[in-house]
Amino acid sequence: MYDMYRENILDHAQNPRHHGLLENATIDHEEDNPLCGDHIHLTLRVSEDGTILEAGWEGDGCAISQASASMLTEEIVGKTLEEVRAIDKQHIFDMLGIPLSMNRVKCALLSLKVLKVGAYGLADWQKMQDEEEA
Ligand code: ZN
Repeated sequence: MYDMYRENILDHAQNPRHHGLLENATIDHEEDNPLCGDHIHLTLRVSEDGTILEAGWEGDGCAISQASASMLTEEIVGKTLEEVRAIDKQHIFDMLGIPLSMNRVKCALLSLKVLKVGAYGLADWQKMQDEEEA
């Protein structure tokens, strides 16, 4: 039953959506996952009222990390920063749709971390970590 999700992940990894960095981005942030060697650089163009008009990213690393970035950018374009703020880890797991080992979780969440830290600051991301551990 996971085949469909696996195929979707491979498709996103091989044909990434919104690939390529934006010029004059409103938000520009990058992060690494040293455990796997994944790297994601995300740029967003945000309107004055906080709507994400365009997203562009580049990165390298494993299929999970790259597919997650591709799917996430596809999902956030057209939404407001306020709406995007509600995206949590579970949302990413549901989006990928396959069971992930502990090591793979970091790969899957790298794009979300780049988005959250870039858009709302490191404190916001850390708060999410703390809330889940509590
Ligand atoms: Zn990885």
